[in-house]
Parts: sequence; structure tokens; C-alpha cells
Amino acid sequence: MKILRLPKEKLDFFAAVVQQFGEVHAPVKQNGKYAFRRLSRWSDACLNYDRTILPPKKYFLPPREAMFAYRSGKGYVPVVDGLDKRLILFGVHACDVFGLNVLDAVFAGKYPDPYYQTRRRNIAIIGVDCASDEHCFCRSMRADFVDRGFDLFLFDIGDYYFVTVGTALGDDMVLATGSLFEKVTQADIDEYKRRSQSKRAAFRLEVEIRDLPEIFEMEYHNEVWNELGAKCLSCGSCSMICPTCYCYDVADDVEFGAVDGVRNRVWDTCLFYGHALVAGGENFRKSRGSRIKFRYYHKQRGFVAEYGRPSCVGCGRCITSCPVNIDITKVIDQLRGVHNAASSQSRDLTARPEA
Ligand code: SF4
Ligand code: SF4
Repeated sequence: MKILRLPKEKLDFFAAVVQQFGEVHAPVKQNGKYAFRRLSRWSDACLNYDRTILPPKKYFLPPREAMFAYRSGKGYVPVVDGLDKRLILFGVHACDVFGLNVLDAVFAGKYPDPYYQTRRRNIAIIGVDCASDEHCFCRSMRADFVDRGFDLFLFDIGDYYFVTVGTALGDDMVLATGSLFEKVTQADIDEYKRRSQSKRAAFRLEVEIRDLPEIFEMEYHNEVWNELGAKCLSCGSCSMICPTCYCYDVADDVEFGAVDGVRNRVWDTCLFYGHALVAGGENFRKSRGSRIKFRYYHKQRGFVAEYGRPSCVGCGRCITSCPVNIDITKVIDQLRGVHNAASSQSRDLTARPEA
């Protein structure tokens, strides 16, 4: 692993140089929130942000994409528009890089997905460290630090960024800048350790994930699932904005004449009524309670059994986006029987954490 430092006043110059490696996208402010967008000028980039509305997942698994077309007389016609486009995502937080590493396990593992894998090869990641707010619990989910999945990662140490080079492409970006990057000193390393320790200590929200799959196993019939089912609107927001929710539906757009068409995939979620609806009209998860329960069990228990860790990275998006304020950390606390109020059974699952 190579570690260098970049003077902060040279960041603009570095951003200009990396444009030769692809179209630069970064978080920009949008109606008081943040979203990854193509930059028209570097000054629009906001590297000091809390969280983007949608995670970088949208670049690798677009909300809607054509997989292939079929044409009379030609048969199968591949659709590869945009797949080979080189992009640079500048300013990705550690938890979102971790989210991509989780998606890698799904889309680049046992069942390789060529669409996802091609994009992953063509989209570079420049990560940046961040400060936690009252909804972040990535430290609890062991996702506040990443050691892979990015090309470069920038950590603020005052007058410099402490830069970890993650790939050969990241190294090429460094080399393309000439002598912009410098060797780190012992003082830089000490400052990095001091700041990373104080960032870890600053987390206000914590959940305990040790033995959580076992707790889920034991609490399958807990009343919390009925309470959640009564509150949840099945709107799907918590899933759409989640960096590690990856379900999609496949449907054809058939043209007039029913011969030619395009096969698309679109984001789907286990929270929607139709997700577990099968031929013959049977639905395995008719109730809202069973659907939200399924989502929690898949992320915190099923994924652990299959991939060795929960798929949740603790980004806090589902907490901030739920219209009825269902809070995953409070659900976990209630299942654990954590008493932050007079009685865990009487705790309000929708109450906001104190700022
Ligand atoms: S479940 Fe919620 S906190 Fe966890 S990764 Fe998904 S959106 Fe983020
Ligand atoms: S965002 Fe809230 S209301 Fe909507 S599906 Fe998720 S838990 Fe239910």
C-alpha cells in the first residue's frame, strides 16, 4: 500500500488533472441536500457533506437500465450504451465505498453480473473521509474505514490530505500530477492517528452487532414486527436509498406488433406488495409487517450467513428518509431489550435520536 500526502491548496489542480481519466462527478448541493452529479465546474463540488440522497450505487446499478433488445430477423441485440464510459466519482465516503464492496460480493461473486462488473471497472473512486452526524452508525457496522474498493482515499490531516493509493489507476492519477504528491512524514502519520482516533470517539449513535443474527433468530415472533408493520407505508424509500439494497425486477417493453422489444431491469424492493407475488396469485409476504421483517432479516441475518457480515453499512439514509421515522437502530435496540426508556416494549420506534 502506498501512502502520500497532498497539500490542500493543490486539490483544485489535482481535480483538473484527474479529468483526463474520466468525467468527474462529485456531491453538489441540491435543495439543502447533496447528490452526486456531473460537475460543470470544480467549485460546485461539496466534499464536506453529510450524505448524498442516493448512494453511488446509482452509477453501478442504475434505477432503470436496458439489458438487451430483440429484433425480428436479428434476434438478440446487446445494449451496451454508456457501459464503457469512464467516470471519476470524487468524494465518496468510506461507508459508501464499503457499500460498493458489499455489492461486489453479490454482483462480482458467485453470479457475476457483466453490466455491474463493466461499470465497476470503468468508474474510478476517489474517497474522502467525513465527520459523523446523529444518524451515522457506520462505526458500529465496521464500515467507517475501508482498505479496498477505491482508487485513492483522502483523509484530512489539516494542511494536507493523507492519501491512500488503492489501485494501479490511483497510482497513475498520482503520477499524472507530476510532483504534486509528497512523501508523508512521521508528523503526518501521528496527526492521522490522532484525527482518526478522535473521529471514532465522536460517534453519537451506536448499535451492538455481535450476536445480532442470533438475536434475530430468537426474536422472530417479537411484537416489534407487528408494530413496524402497522407503521410502515411500504413506500420503499428506505430500500431505494440504501447503498446495499440491490433487488431489481425485469420487464420487457414490447413494441407494437409484439415482435420487437427491449428487456429492462428496474429497482425493486422486498417492501413492495408485488415482490413476493408469484404465478397463480400466491404472495409469500402479503402483510407489511412480513415485508419489513424480511428486509431486516436479510440485511442483518441472511447476509451474514452467506457473506460473513451484515449488508447494512450504517450510513443512516434509511433513518433520514423514512416518512414515518422508523429508525433501524431503535428497532435493533428493542429486539435486544436495550432500555433507553422506562420500558423497551413501550419505546417509540419512530422517535428521533437526540441531536
Ligand atoms: S439499512 Fe439503512 S443504515 Fe443500513 S446501509 Fe441501508 S440505508 Fe444505510
Ligand atoms: S421508508 Fe419507512 S415507511 Fe417507507 S418502506 Fe421504509 S420503513 Fe416503510
